[in-house]
Amino acid sequence: MRSNVRMKIRGIPLWAWAAAAALYVGVAVAAVGFAGSRAIDALAEVGAHRLDLLAASLKSELGRFEMMPAIVARQDSVRALLAAGSRASPDLVREVDTYLEAVSNEAGSLAVDVIDLQGNVIAASNWNQSFSFVGTNVSYRPYFKDALAHGSGRFFGIGTNTGMPGLYFASAVRDAGKPIGAAAVKLSVDALEAAWRAPGEAALVIDGNGVIVISTVPDWKFTALQPITAQRQRDIQSSRQYAGRTVDVLPYRRVGENKDDGHGTAWLGRFPDWRRPGHTARFLVMSRPAPQAGDSVMVLLDTAGARHQQELAFAFVTGAFLIAGLYALYAAQRRRTIAEKLKAQDALRRANDQLEITVAQRTAALTAANERMQQEIVERKRTEQRLRDTQQEVVHAGKLAVLGQMAAGLTHELNQPLVAIRTLCDNARTFFERDQPAQAVANLERVARLVDGMAGLTGELKAFARKPDVERMAVSLCEAVAHARLIYEARIRDERVQLDARIPAGSTVWAESSQLQQVIVNLLGNALDAVHNEERRIITIAAADPDARERVLFTIADSGPGIAPDVLAHLFEPFVTTKPRGQGLGLGLAITSRIVEGFGAKISAANRADGGAQFTIEFAAATSQRLVHGR
Ligand code: ADP
Repeated sequence: MRSNVRMKIRGIPLWAWAAAAALYVGVAVAAVGFAGSRAIDALAEVGAHRLDLLAASLKSELGRFEMMPAIVARQDSVRALLAAGSRASPDLVREVDTYLEAVSNEAGSLAVDVIDLQGNVIAASNWNQSFSFVGTNVSYRPYFKDALAHGSGRFFGIGTNTGMPGLYFASAVRDAGKPIGAAAVKLSVDALEAAWRAPGEAALVIDGNGVIVISTVPDWKFTALQPITAQRQRDIQSSRQYAGRTVDVLPYRRVGENKDDGHGTAWLGRFPDWRRPGHTARFLVMSRPAPQAGDSVMVLLDTAGARHQQELAFAFVTGAFLIAGLYALYAAQRRRTIAEKLKAQDALRRANDQLEITVAQRTAALTAANERMQQEIVERKRTEQRLRDTQQEVVHAGKLAVLGQMAAGLTHELNQPLVAIRTLCDNARTFFERDQPAQAVANLERVARLVDGMAGLTGELKAFARKPDVERMAVSLCEAVAHARLIYEARIRDERVQLDARIPAGSTVWAESSQLQQVIVNLLGNALDAVHNEERRIITIAAADPDARERVLFTIADSGPGIAPDVLAHLFEPFVTTKPRGQGLGLGLAITSRIVEGFGAKISAANRADGGAQFTIEFAAATSQRLVHGR
């Protein structure tokens, strides 16, 4: 039920449609009614004027003839004729006839005649016409009867001889105050009817019987507006007023109330439309009494104009409602469109706000992430710096370790010749004192050789200590191995280590000379440490180029215990060592791997199947042209 109440058509509630429809019907009915009554009022005003005119014209037209029979009645010849009766001379008859003819012609009447007391026409204006009234009897005519009885009479009727309708006026002819006959005038109403004819309008004169005697509509003539009583019909027949015709009732229908304005009546009726045979039309019927001519004069005015006014009013109201309705629809549509637009804008604004919030949140998250990343970057940089510092320290420590090892080797290497030199010098002094210069010179020569050997050793050291040359080049592998071997010469010898170096002559690798030496020294040092406590102390150094000058695989294998499994995974990390405190820092392999990577080479370690460890370096081979001999 509620949803019904809320139902809308094109955005307008149903009740508004219903109200508009009711208003439209109400206004249309009122407008049509008002327009109709206004138009009818205007028409009634026209009708009243028309009736005034008709009555006036009737009065003036008939007035002209009203006195005519009385004048004729006073004519001496007429009186003489009536007095003479059947004894009248033909001359007198002729005189009266011509007189009447002259009067009739003069006045424009249809006929003027003289009637004796028996109702016989004894003289007439149309005496010499074929339809002459002379000899006819009009005793049954009311105008004759009235004239004899009351002095004058009037009557609308159809001539029995001529069959022409006309208005009869009659006056008694008196002699010494006594009626001796009557004089009568018959008028035509044709001219009147012709003058009254007007479009959309009928003008009628109704006689005392209620019969139409003058009519601008010819068909309506001698019809009645009211049914005629049987008695009246008989009277009419006896007076032969309408030449024996039966009087029919005009087929019409009243559609409105009778209104009496004091002067006459007005009502609406539907009558046969004389302009369109077979059709009817609505007329405003107005009448007022017209004693000169009969009973009343009547005018019928077509209400088509009023209907037209009503149609116009209806069209106007409908048009106005249509325009108002269209405007209302347009306004409703506009309101709806604006509302939708506002809604869309609102939704858009909300979405925008949401988006802004989301963007702000994301931005905040991104900013936070960014800050975190910045912090991480700072942290990483710090860590990197620490690592780099540590690496440098490691390198430094590694160098120190190598230096320590070298110092131990050197001390050993230099101590022996120094002791020998001391002894040779002491002996040489003794030889000089014993005057044995030849032996003394021989001793000095041995001293010189020993000094040369020591100088060679320090030369090697100088080469090792030289600042690493960062430029890579082809370096002889044999020479690098020979240098390492030289450094550990004393240890190899003292510990009776079997060192097999199987480096093909001319093997070169892409490296830096002193750094390569350091690498081999480190690896050989570790191998010597590994075999130190072994029965068999074998170290094998080898090189091979498996794919013809592309790579050089350098290996150093020992017969030691092999690398402990937990150490193997972290072998090249700094400070990984299994050696007792003071003997190893765990930096050697870390430095080694760093240097090897610097060459663009790869180092790996593994335990051999037949025991011991093996370190492999995969060098890029250098071409023979680039070969440079290491120092
Ligand atoms: P350090 O010699 O000072 O201990 P290194 O980095 O040179 O440091 O060696 C790390 C460790 O790797 C050694 O302590 C040792 O346990 C192991 N290692 C190195 N070379 C060998 C080898 N040839 N045989 C067995 N173990 C080895």
